Amino acid sequence: MIEALDIQVKGIVQGVGFRPFVYRLAKKYLINGWVLNGIDGVSIHAEGESKLLDEFVLEISDSAPAASRVEEIELKEVPLQDFESFEIRFSDDTETEKTTLVSPDLATCDDCVRELFDPEDRRYRYPFINCTNCGPRFTIIDSLPYDRKSTSMRKFPMCPSCAHEYADPLDRRFHAQPDACFTCGPHLTWYVHENDDLSAQYLPVKVAHDRTESDGVLAEATAMLRAGKILAVKGLGGFHLACDAENAEAVAALRVRKRREGKAFAVMMADAAAVRRVCLVDEAEEALLASAARPIVLLRKRPGAAFVPGLADALPELGVMLPCTPVQHLLMHDFAQAGGTMLVMTSGNVHDNPIVTSDEEACRELSSIADGILGNDRDILTRFDDSVVRVISVGAAGEAVQFIRRARGYAPLPLPLASAVPGVPEVFATGPEQKNTFTLTRPGEAFVSQHIGDMENVETFDVWLATKQRYERLFDVAPQLVAADLHPEYLSSKWAHDQDLPVMGIQHHHAHAASILGEHGLEGPACAVTFDGTGYGPDGALWGGEVLLTNQVAFERFAQFSYVPMPGGAAAIKHPLRMAYGALWTFDLLDHPAAASAIEALGDEAAVCDAMIEEGLNCPMTSSVGRLFDAASALLGVCTSPKYEGEPAILLEAAMGLYADMDADELPAEGFDEGEKSHARIIQERYMVDIVKNVATEDSTAEETAVLLFDAGPVFKALLDDKEAGVDVGLIARRFHDAMAQAVYLAAELVRSMYDINLVTLSGGVFMNRYLIERVTADLELAGFTVGLNRELPPNDGSVSFGQAVVATARLAQEGAGEK
Ligand SMILES: [Zn+2]
Ligand SMILES: [Zn+2]
Repeated sequence: MIEALDIQVKGIVQGVGFRPFVYRLAKKYLINGWVLNGIDGVSIHAEGESKLLDEFVLEISDSAPAASRVEEIELKEVPLQDFESFEIRFSDDTETEKTTLVSPDLATCDDCVRELFDPEDRRYRYPFINCTNCGPRFTIIDSLPYDRKSTSMRKFPMCPSCAHEYADPLDRRFHAQPDACFTCGPHLTWYVHENDDLSAQYLPVKVAHDRTESDGVLAEATAMLRAGKILAVKGLGGFHLACDAENAEAVAALRVRKRREGKAFAVMMADAAAVRRVCLVDEAEEALLASAARPIVLLRKRPGAAFVPGLADALPELGVMLPCTPVQHLLMHDFAQAGGTMLVMTSGNVHDNPIVTSDEEACRELSSIADGILGNDRDILTRFDDSVVRVISVGAAGEAVQFIRRARGYAPLPLPLASAVPGVPEVFATGPEQKNTFTLTRPGEAFVSQHIGDMENVETFDVWLATKQRYERLFDVAPQLVAADLHPEYLSSKWAHDQDLPVMGIQHHHAHAASILGEHGLEGPACAVTFDGTGYGPDGALWGGEVLLTNQVAFERFAQFSYVPMPGGAAAIKHPLRMAYGALWTFDLLDHPAAASAIEALGDEAAVCDAMIEEGLNCPMTSSVGRLFDAASALLGVCTSPKYEGEPAILLEAAMGLYADMDADELPAEGFDEGEKSHARIIQERYMVDIVKNVATEDSTAEETAVLLFDAGPVFKALLDDKEAGVDVGLIARRFHDAMAQAVYLAAELVRSMYDINLVTLSGGVFMNRYLIERVTADLELAGFTVGLNRELPPNDGSVSFGQAVVATARLAQEGAGEK
């Protein structure tokens, strides 16, 4: 029987080859009708034999193009209109296209890689090959609707061959906006210094107009990499700095020239097989490595695998990425042919500046870093860093992706936002100072920007503003309210108060917790554990070790870690020995024999710290668990002069080594005599925070004054006792981690017994600690708790803007409902 269906497909279905895909399926199942990009995704009118229609619909959802994301298919039986063919229709209503989504940039697909290395193909070794399933998207778009004239490809008119493919619905380049070839498309550019001298000018640029010239440039680039030189290589969202990751001198030179002392470098390898030789890769990790988003995946180093010094020293993980663009495929392939294995691929910037995106900028900013610049003449219209993810194992859910940085390949895909109901004003959420992202809301969804970076410098702030304007334009959002952090000194908060819009201040850790509620569409209440670096509290102290009772709208501070002074404020973050001094002072442990070495290492600064604490000068108080990790790390001598924030905690986690993988009762009983109790139990009791009732005053509010204080004194005393007894540092590190895990567990139990709340959320930068988040999640689930984690966003400050948007829209929705 011949029937007719109207089919609505929602999700990421435009600019990803969806219409030609539907067209081909229609041919396969003898369907007549049409397909069209509509207001809400893709609309299809299909007429055919009912059995074939069923299969047609099934295959639309089962074999959709790799880059698409089908979120919903709606079917409606409609009268037959007796179409005699199937056609792709074009919408000329630009307003309708404006509301649709823009795909993130996509890694080169397998079909294109095959053609790239096929000597018979007309695009053999063409560095900008792409198709409807792959290539640049968001980074080249100027305006919507998405077609070539609104992208940076507009300056490359298509040659007849490309134009033919572009117009043919059966071609896999049908309507591929960045489609190009050697004849008509972008070309590599190549800059080297005169006389191979870094301080000299660049020789005139070489533009590789055809395959011979292009291969010539790539051969020079490969030879330089093999010779230990440093190259700047233009990618999708900006330049990378690349060098041979197995050449210690090259790696060291890169560190010096880029002024990047400590943070690990990520590497690129040719394929998963090469990665497996040096890292442990499971199925989920391999899928991420090869995904269209092509992030950097943090993988556990294979035991016994050797790496050159300076790559990712002392860390159990290495950041690895597979080639993402045709240029990277060619470079990696040629480099491997020349005997190389892995390339350092780090962002192309100096120190903390925004990454460089144009040839001109690269010549200016990177000339003292890069021996050669491999650029091109396709403009990048918005900056994107690489995304960074890892796979963690979280209780019953099994393996899950944890974002560390969400950028290329993921942004600007929106997140659903249930509180942004129609009628609620659109919100711009500024995000915090560090690891900044911003968020813009529209009814039902939130656009979380790509990672912008640390907003302390003007350059990054300018990028933030420009990116915001771009999102507002592309997604047609006109915010009527600004949500900002409470911190009065953040550039973003100051900016917010200079706007002609109402500002809603949102506490940093409430935003952290709300980001999880918002991601899962939960209203709360939740027991929100927020272990973080530092965030401004309504009492003026720096929070970061809180247990909040929270929903999307409001919070109460249930528990906090007792305040510890930070002598010198931010200086205590750079000098964790100062943090250690603050902890020793607070916990009355300055005279502990095992503290002597730390105090000695402080030298004259010890007296300065003492004076600052006693007089309360330049000495903010903090409840931050991140800072407690700093103090513990410094006291144990694991990290006393960090090269970036968070390094002391990262190294303390790494110091656990094999102890991290052992069950509590397998751990050695070093440091005390075994008694009647199991030694695991004894350790647990020694390393236990003291929970005391907090004292409220007349002015106390539920937001700022916690009911309970967690006193980490006993934990620090046990740590010093163990140090004095000569217990292995790795074992002490493990016991310290377990103490923090136990504090979370105790808090959750208390909240459940008092308020009957069973949902626990874990957020804040401290939960980037793999051991801690895995351990705590497992413990809580075992005790019957429901554990909420960030899934699409990082647990660190990268999720704060989304949390701000969740709180702001939830409050606005509530106010709106109240008025009715
Ligand atoms: Zn492709
Ligand atoms: Zn062409």
